[in-house]
Amino acid sequence: MASANRYLGLIDKYRAVLPVSDSTRLISIGEGNTPLIKLENIPALIGKNVDIYVKYEGLNPTGSFKDRGMTMAVTKAVEEGSKAIICASTGNTSASAAAYAARAGIKAFVLIPEGKIALGKLAQAMMHGAEIIQIKGNFDHGMQLVKEVAEHAPVTIVNSINPYRIQGQKTAAYEIAEALGKVPDYHCLPVGNAGNITAHWLGYTEMGKTSGEHPTMVGYQAAGAAPFLKGEMIDDPETVATAIRIGRPQSWDQAWGAQKESGGWFDLLSDEEILAAQKLLSEQEGIFCEPASAASVGGAIRDIKNGKIPEGSTIVCTLTGHGLKDPDTAISQCAVNPKAIDASLDAVKAAILDKL
Ligand SMILES: *Cc1c(COP(=O)(O)O)cnc(C)c1O
Repeated sequence: MASANRYLGLIDKYRAVLPVSDSTRLISIGEGNTPLIKLENIPALIGKNVDIYVKYEGLNPTGSFKDRGMTMAVTKAVEEGSKAIICASTGNTSASAAAYAARAGIKAFVLIPEGKIALGKLAQAMMHGAEIIQIKGNFDHGMQLVKEVAEHAPVTIVNSINPYRIQGQKTAAYEIAEALGKVPDYHCLPVGNAGNITAHWLGYTEMGKTSGEHPTMVGYQAAGAAPFLKGEMIDDPETVATAIRIGRPQSWDQAWGAQKESGGWFDLLSDEEILAAQKLLSEQEGIFCEPASAASVGGAIRDIKNGKIPEGSTIVCTLTGHGLKDPDTAISQCAVNPKAIDASLDAVKAAILDKL
């Protein structure tokens, strides 16, 4: 018998609001239950009286929030007898699909854009033994191909168009409300396919059924991949934040619904602003997230400064993925080239005194 306080993953914890039965075999590697961390130094830096929390989803088993949806999608795929899953991915979905397929003992096929996926994510998909198919195209092309091929082969799509993904991901909203003892006033997220903003809104509206309470949902995109700002799908998305390098969001209508019903908005950040926010979080708070994730904090800071988010607000920013996913982008931002010195006490002492 499992011990009463052993954490067995988010499906076990939230089974009352998820589509599983007592006999469902749960495919879990301990996802969810991520920390909600209050920022201490950044609010003082910007000189505003706000409570900013970050939901550090980079601490999921494969380092991104995708695990929340993947545990549900793979659990249901296995329950329905599927022997293989398939996804298109900018990286994190493929890492997560590969890991959960390995755990379940089924096959994972992942379509990734050639040369546009961060090193850590590729390493994960390879280590977990996924069948990796690199395409000479972007995520949007991959997604279209996955939809077509799934009509011709016995494979289950585990992109966020799979409704179980959204179900699993909504649990983040439940965790936040539990940790705060209330729902936040504002919830800020990076937006790519818009599955995550859709899932959070689903969680908040389920919880708020009787009280009517819900946060204002704010979605931030990269300037070169901002279909929600343009008001239409775009063809050649480009950004350093590869996780949100998407021109044709799959949850288009749902995300507009979340924005309108919550009274929220979309906005965009340049790549420079995204990287600056990533560095700020790393240097000021000790929290390392990947570039796409930092769009939530960078956007929130701007909207706090310009008064769109008023003082006195409680704000949650989702940090969707871990900084270690993309070491190349991180290192290329840091102008340090640590020079080698003699391995002597004098040389090391001089190097330290030089910096104090
Ligand atoms: C998938 C992903 C996103 C975008 O989430 P959507 O649900 O596609 O909007 C943002 N950041 C990271 C790190 C991701 O992996």
